[in-house]
Amino acid sequence: MQQFESLRASSLYCKKCQTAMPVREKLLLVLPDKEIYDYLCTGCASSLGQREVTAGELLMSRSAMSRQASTRGIF
Ligand SMILES: [Zn+2]
Repeated sequence: MQQFESLRASSLYCKKCQTAMPVREKLLLVLPDKEIYDYLCTGCASSLGQREVTAGELLMSRSAMSRQASTRGIF
């Protein structure tokens, strides 16, 4: 799970650290049609940005994940 998260996370410029830092994705808010994620600096835990994931994207990522799981089961 940790590996999967770090794969998706990118680096963003952090004002406090004064450099581009790897970010941690944190689920901030769940709405009926979307989810909002907060990007936190792994160095100082400042919020560096937010991302909205729409229901359509969620459905796609969920089906992609289940496809991966079933692929793993077969092989
Ligand atoms: Zn920082």
